[in-house]
Amino acid sequence: MANQERNTNGADEDANSADAAGGRSLNFIEQIVEEDLRTGKFGGRVQTRFPPEPNGYLHIGHAKSICLNFGLAAKYNGKCNLRFDDTNPCKEEVEYVESIQEDIRWLGFDWGDRLYYASDYFEQLYQWAIQLVHAGKAYVCDLTGDEIRQYRGTLTTPGRNSPYRDRSVEENLDLFQRMRAGEFPDGSRTLRAKIDMAHPNLNMRDPVLYRILRAEHHRTGNQWCIYSMYDFAHGQSDSIERITHSICTLEFENHRPLYDWFIQNLGIYAPQQIEFARLNLSFTVMSKRKLLELVKQGHVGGWDDPRMPTISGLRRRGYTPESIRNFCDRIGVAKFNSTIDVAVLENCLREHLNAVAPRALAVLHPLRVVIDNYPEDQVEQLEAVNNPEDPSAGTRKIPFSRVVYIERDDFREDPPRQFHRLAPGREVRLRYGYIICCQEAVKNEQGEVVELRCTYDPDTLGRQPEGRTVKGVIHWVSAAHAVLAEVRLYDRLFTQEDPEDVPEGQDYKTNLNSQSLEVLRDCPVEPNLAEAAPGTRLQFERLGYFCVDAKDSRPGALVFNRTVPLRDTWAKIEKAHKKVSLKDSR
Ligand code: ATP
Ligand code: MG
Repeated sequence: MANQERNTNGADEDANSADAAGGRSLNFIEQIVEEDLRTGKFGGRVQTRFPPEPNGYLHIGHAKSICLNFGLAAKYNGKCNLRFDDTNPCKEEVEYVESIQEDIRWLGFDWGDRLYYASDYFEQLYQWAIQLVHAGKAYVCDLTGDEIRQYRGTLTTPGRNSPYRDRSVEENLDLFQRMRAGEFPDGSRTLRAKIDMAHPNLNMRDPVLYRILRAEHHRTGNQWCIYSMYDFAHGQSDSIERITHSICTLEFENHRPLYDWFIQNLGIYAPQQIEFARLNLSFTVMSKRKLLELVKQGHVGGWDDPRMPTISGLRRRGYTPESIRNFCDRIGVAKFNSTIDVAVLENCLREHLNAVAPRALAVLHPLRVVIDNYPEDQVEQLEAVNNPEDPSAGTRKIPFSRVVYIERDDFREDPPRQFHRLAPGREVRLRYGYIICCQEAVKNEQGEVVELRCTYDPDTLGRQPEGRTVKGVIHWVSAAHAVLAEVRLYDRLFTQEDPEDVPEGQDYKTNLNSQSLEVLRDCPVEPNLAEAAPGTRLQFERLGYFCVDAKDSRPGALVFNRTVPLRDTWAKIEKAHKKVSLKDSR
């Protein structure tokens, strides 16, 4: 990729100009649309489309395209179609068609009654091919695929004409119709456009329009044994749907002259193609081919594995549609490829969850604490705030009793100076509860701490005793009331910022993070969560954002996914690395 540069803020400033209304600046596509509206280029219409190929699940890169296409339509009172570009019967499946629709709806967009398939246009495309043959602008070629490649030439050398290029219109018509009728074996002939074998743009060197392929199509079955190439379908599909602004990623820039050639030579309605930079994220691979490989080879649990950058993976991980839309808006639209720091996405998520996720108490690595001076059979219902960011979320009761679990990390036998949590002889406040003091750490035969004996101060509920400062507040769960849950700690799937950066002879899979999933069992969580519905998003106080797994969780056998820690722990690690290397270089 030529114009790779690291971009942590997202928005491409050069391509944007200030919005007259004073809001977010207009991106370069919005500028084009507004200019077209001003000049009346498309009669004041804005018609976009999102055109996925149903050969995999949608990923966060597609979300960018979805937000852009549906967003433009919404902003300019236009319409956005959903069109499946299903010209390749070999890799396409109904499962993908369904998941794509589910994901777009979940993101919050609606195509109304405008659901289309390129396969609906097969007959029209065939008629247009016939039209080109009639006009002497397409011919049947008997070269094999390899030969076609050899004849094509290179970027620096012109190609050579196919020996079949000068067949008569009559012969071409006859052969092409017989290709459709199934008279020739797969791969034996193609239909090609007659353009220019010396054209500087390789896409213009007599591209293949049709191939013979006996493959069942998920919608047209065995009706066809010739299939058009993507390039011969995409632009015309846009034309059929009277798309005004056909927005696609940069790699199609040098296909645009070919699409325009088809449109002109067929004399049909001409949409305007506009290219933008695809989204790349650090620590992430984004190609469907690679994501499919991860699924097929079992490196992840499926397309919706919470570590996948797919929409379904992000959903299962606990992402909200709002946070993804906000991310797409924030990174903006650029004309040059760059890589966005995945932390930008994670921060959009934290921002939203902080505002909407109810808080709960849960302990991931439990250490048993017995409060010796608390009555054996007493239970108190303590009042806890559901969301400090949202008073309307109210409060709830959580039971407190003589034995509680705290986080193992919140106790140190030999604490450093800045440690404000529990240690022998030290005090700490239990969140929403009392101040306790650690009297003794009980050890097993191996010398490991297995239990703390503490005392509590009954006068400290909801108030700070005079003259005593207790800085630390830790979370806890009452042992007698705890619900035990499985907690899956997900982390980034790749250890390298650029997963493709690998030594010779290896591939991106070398950089898979072997620690990307840690499963914890029997984690005590507060009893209010016993009935938590699949998909519920929460903040476990001091630990991070979690959600109830939508697939595997059941009442009585709860499973939580960690969505994201409270802070960007990777930034800390990277900073530490940088400090170390600074020291080294001194
Ligand atoms: P991939 O390269 O991941 O396999 P694709 O481009 O083949 O993706 P399509 O189904 O053809 O996938 O994509 C549908 C639409 O989404 C296209 O308009 C494409 O340009 C856009 N798109 C795909 N990937 C990205 C991305 N990373 N960023 C922005 N838009 C994308
Ligand atoms: Mg594609």
